[in-house]
Amino acid sequence: AAKNLGGSRTSFFREEFNHQLQAALQLEAEMRQALERNEFVLHYQPLVDARSGALLGCEALIRWQHPIRGLLSPFHFIPAAEQCGLISELGAWTIRSACQQIARWKEAGLQVGTVAVNVSALEFRHHRLLDTLTTAIAASGVRPGELEIELTESVLMTDIQTTQLIIERLHALGLPLSVDDFGTGYSSLSYLKHLRPAKLKIDRSFVKDLPGEEGDQVLVRAIVQLAHSLGIKVVAEGVETEAQQAFLRDIGCEILQGYLISRPQDAKGFEAFARRVSNTLVDA
Ligand code: C2E
Ligand code: MG
Ligand code: MG
Ligand code: MG
Repeated sequence: AAKNLGGSRTSFFREEFNHQLQAALQLEAEMRQALERNEFVLHYQPLVDARSGALLGCEALIRWQHPIRGLLSPFHFIPAAEQCGLISELGAWTIRSACQQIARWKEAGLQVGTVAVNVSALEFRHHRLLDTLTTAIAASGVRPGELEIELTESVLMTDIQTTQLIIERLHALGLPLSVDDFGTGYSSLSYLKHLRPAKLKIDRSFVKDLPGEEGDQVLVRAIVQLAHSLGIKVVAEGVETEAQQAFLRDIGCEILQGYLISRPQDAKGFEAFARRVSNTLVDA
């Protein structure tokens, strides 16, 4: 009986495994098709000056306009793309699209500041990344400071020597670095000294209970001080309330991003935001 039980358990796992494998293969095939059919889109979320509200830039965030499942968040396909090796292709699509968008905005005379693109761990280590960036920048005429790269802490802390080399190449291309989800990785901070990112983005998890949560107050203040003493600017992610905004502004966090300012929107929606903001600033 024990043998039977073992046997059926094995086949249960095998079936479950087959099922997951099938699903993964299907998703991969669909993503390849989606690249061909141009079903991915970038949405843009503004980053603004905490004091003046001026537009400093935006973050490009990928979505998948799936023919059946509707607009899919990156959580539904980025991890899968990393697993099946499609991430560098998807990343290349993102980089090319962001560069083309920058060129269109410039042509239209719209000033949007720096456009940030997220680069995930495997994509960062892939030999194609630098080629992709070089080609996309050349083709679109993007100039230094118009495009920047967001990387998470954990990416920066693995294999620091290779990382430093890649970052130096990015700098040579005129691409500043922004540390995403800051505070959620391990807290060996020595990489900051070596890599000198332009910005730290305080993870939303530290922002969401501000200003009420004292522990978060202390942490966020400390991050701002640390960053400033290294000459790094601080972005607060996920700002949703005026109380958070006021607290962050008062402790010297210079850049804000979050639903309070604007949700991520498609290019048209973001353009409307950019025009509105620059008009208000001119009026004020
Ligand atoms: P992230 O880079 O940390 O992006 C911030 C996420 O927080 C975005 O989710 C954004 O929509 C959301 N967010 C912004 N403000 C608020 C707020 O006030 N409240 C709340 N609750 N959420 C807010 P999204 O667009 O779903 O992206 C999730 C993650 O997927 C990103 O986290 C990033 O790690 C990844 N991702 C997005 N686009 C790309 C891409 O083109 N390439 C790669 N490799 N990863 C991407
Ligand atoms: Mg990001
Ligand atoms: Mg982030
Ligand atoms: Mg995040």
